[in-house]
Amino acid sequence: MTFDPETTTFLIAGPVRIHPRVLRAMSMPSLNHRGDYFHGIVQEIRELLPVLFGTPGHQVVLSGSGTAGLEAMYSSLLPKDGRVLVLSNGNFGERSDKIARQYSSHVTTVTAPWGHPIAPEAVRTELEKGDVVAVCLVHNETSVGLANDLGAISKEVRRAGSPLLLVDGISAVAGIPINVTEWGIDALVAGPQKGLAAPAGLAIVHLSDRAVEALHPGSFYLDLKAHLGPLEKNDTPWTPAVPLFLALREALLLLKEETLAGRLARTHRLAEASRAAVDALGLELFPEREFASDTVTAIKNPNGMGDAELRKVLEHQYNILVQGGQGALTGKIFRIGHMGIADWPDLLVTFAALERILGKAGRLPAPGASLRAVVDRMP
Ligand code: PLP
Repeated sequence: MTFDPETTTFLIAGPVRIHPRVLRAMSMPSLNHRGDYFHGIVQEIRELLPVLFGTPGHQVVLSGSGTAGLEAMYSSLLPKDGRVLVLSNGNFGERSDKIARQYSSHVTTVTAPWGHPIAPEAVRTELEKGDVVAVCLVHNETSVGLANDLGAISKEVRRAGSPLLLVDGISAVAGIPINVTEWGIDALVAGPQKGLAAPAGLAIVHLSDRAVEALHPGSFYLDLKAHLGPLEKNDTPWTPAVPLFLALREALLLLKEETLAGRLARTHRLAEASRAAVDALGLELFPEREFASDTVTAIKNPNGMGDAELRKVLEHQYNILVQGGQGALTGKIFRIGHMGIADWPDLLVTFAALERILGKAGRLPAPGASLRAVVDRMP
């Protein structure tokens, strides 16, 4: 079967497959975004958002992709004075670093090699030098399939006293457990096109009470303070992406029906199955295994097999979409996204096709073993 966008097994690292209920929700005639009907939609979204973050709080929906959410967070919260720590161990850490440097001239970057976690001790060392007013990090580094230990890092930040903890949770929220309150997270950006399985094009920002106190205008369009006031009246400061709000409401309802705990548990199970299947194929995970992400599995390409031999065959021969590597990792790794509404049939089809490709190349150690690994982990 050749690639068909309408029927493909869609396992890139986000945007993810969208439930037909969510697709239908977007097919509405134009709405008056200042009218009662749309205000009712915003109200429902506000009531549902605590399901996504696992806690109530100040939660703002922005029209603009995840990066808009990051820029809103940094521009509205990075103080003018004081040092800002940015933790970076992948492509999105580098992006955060770039955005943070637009809004602060006192950024120190703490790095770890791609595929390795940020060490909490390295964060402590920088914090002990003093003057740190904010710590920024990517929880789940989508580019390398690695989840940083946000719990351990947050302990270091809290030990240091008052720095704000600003988190890119774009591919973590609704995919990886996050204890927003216990870990003292001040701002957390979610990308609805990932664990929530809504369309791309919105960003959702959760703010703590003290983050709300600290808000200041840094950007016009993305000024979080300018959004909070109208939100009290179920309104938005500028014209919102109405169809995406309709889709967001339906995706939140689906999450509520499954429950956040249910979605996290299912995502974890799919991740465990994927990792076991990768082992059975004789392939290697890219990140340190202990930190392998539950939403995205990043796998080293076997020697001598690049995108043309692997990913493109999956796409054009078997109608399966997985994602390649970014930057220096192009052609060196491929990534399977298994978040949102991804499910067991997706994994079975994908690993069956990988078995066939590797088998034809004479590189399959144990035929059927990866499928067995998945089946054994099904509920
Ligand atoms: N941060 C992380 C961790 C991501 O995974 C992504 C997108 O994949 C982004 C930021 C950027 O989000 P967007 O492409 O929606 O602007």
